[in-house]
Amino acid sequence: MSVADDLHGAVPTTLWLGGKQVPSSDGATFAVHDPATGAELARAADATAEDARRALDAAVSVQPAWAATPARERGEILHRAWELLIARSEDFALLMTLEMGKPLAEARGEVTYGGEFLRWFGEEAVRISGRYTHSPSGTGRILVAKQAIGPALAITPWNFPLAMGTRKIAPAFAAGCTMVVKPAPETPLTMLLLGQIFAEAGLPDGVLSILPTSRAAQLTEPLFADDRLRKVTFTGSTAVGKVLLAQSASRVLRTSMELGGNAPFVVFDDADLDAAVDGAMAAKMRNIGEACTAANRFHVDNRVRAEFTARLTERMQALKVGSGLVEGVQVGPLINERQRNSVAALVGDAVAKGAQVTTGGGAVSGPGWFYEPTVLTDVPPDARILKEEVFGPVAAITGFDGEEEGIAAANDTEYGLAAYIYTRGLERALRVAEALETGMVGVNRGIISDVAAPFGGVKQSGLGREAGVEGIEEYLETKYIALP
Ligand code: NAD
Repeated sequence: MSVADDLHGAVPTTLWLGGKQVPSSDGATFAVHDPATGAELARAADATAEDARRALDAAVSVQPAWAATPARERGEILHRAWELLIARSEDFALLMTLEMGKPLAEARGEVTYGGEFLRWFGEEAVRISGRYTHSPSGTGRILVAKQAIGPALAITPWNFPLAMGTRKIAPAFAAGCTMVVKPAPETPLTMLLLGQIFAEAGLPDGVLSILPTSRAAQLTEPLFADDRLRKVTFTGSTAVGKVLLAQSASRVLRTSMELGGNAPFVVFDDADLDAAVDGAMAAKMRNIGEACTAANRFHVDNRVRAEFTARLTERMQALKVGSGLVEGVQVGPLINERQRNSVAALVGDAVAKGAQVTTGGGAVSGPGWFYEPTVLTDVPPDARILKEEVFGPVAAITGFDGEEEGIAAANDTEYGLAAYIYTRGLERALRVAEALETGMVGVNRGIISDVAAPFGGVKQSGLGREAGVEGIEEYLETKYIALP
């Protein structure tokens, strides 16, 4: 089966380089698979270091003209791209379900969410502003201007094939930066189709290049070493983020790092348990549990733990697992065998150390990389699943006594992306939200991502913020002009 058969128009599989569809310089291609069946969907062009150099050449050559393009025009191109994307929602949703595995309903949700970044930053482009003030000593005037940083490299993960791209591309274009995008090798097709949308929207050639590759480091290392690259924005694992930060250090590159998470979901004894279980299902099971914001650890006050566990178990048991293409399916496959093995290993470790399985606990036999929705309780403090990102449909529950112990347990991690708390008390909600060492806190809410809110983490979850009014700052330099 080819993807094109399933879609209304053809899906590009070649590189998008300098405004043209081209094969890779050495003619290589790599396979893209459907994780629900293991079948090959398509072969994508496999970009080389030479292709990366050419893409940067193109980005550099149009950078001055793009930065000088009126902000209104840049914003209108983003707005047109949003309209064109929404007009092809079903194609994008189907493509994401095919290459990533998420249920169609969630893929449709990602088209809306991913599209919002194009719309939002299309509006923000005209709001880039500076500052004019007087020196306190009266000796001069201070003018502060914001300027596009310059050519940027974006490296994106497979879990949100569209939205993790648009959350970077849209603010970069709004700020006047050009961009070379290296999508994840598991899900390159969605990004290539987005390239076509931008071309239709009137984006000048060279402003955006898209380079799928199975040889990530070979492609990006020469770019990091190239004096003309000014910015790197990465979403992915903390381990890879550290490698890229080290590479960025040699040229003091501006970086934005959206890295791994290990979100605590804290249920206090005064929580509305119905709302907490609804929130837990959303925070855990969105995107098959393969979200950086996914609740990884459930810390539940021992006074309500048995009740919460019973209700969550019932809800997890009732979920329908299967191909994301089938209407009504709520849990699709994991991205690949490696990811499923990693989930199984974390569950195995917890069980060996004494955790109880209240539902699930095993892989679903093939084809495809399915894993049962799973609840573990009595998870001991030394279980790896409390320290590491599970990235799958597994809820690990552990108890605590009192607020202080709950906060301490939630903060006992090197990560700091998102946290969730459930309590009816306003004062407690604010006190705990302030005490949590994370970039984002959901209070009585299981879903927190919002185009208008700053998304990002502290500790080893990253540097910088995407979306919100903050998101565009990642692509702007501040210049001080001293005046008499
Ligand atoms: P990953 O780190 O394995 O890969 C991410 C990207 O980096 C891919 O495009 C990959 O090809 C590329 N890459 C890998 N090694 C590289 C190297 N040496 N040089 C250059 N590029 C390299 O992550 P993943 O498995 O694709 O994504 C899952 C991870 O992403 C999870 O840890 C998740 O928490 C994180 N994530 C974070 C956010 C956030 O906003 N904080 C959002 C989504 C996902």
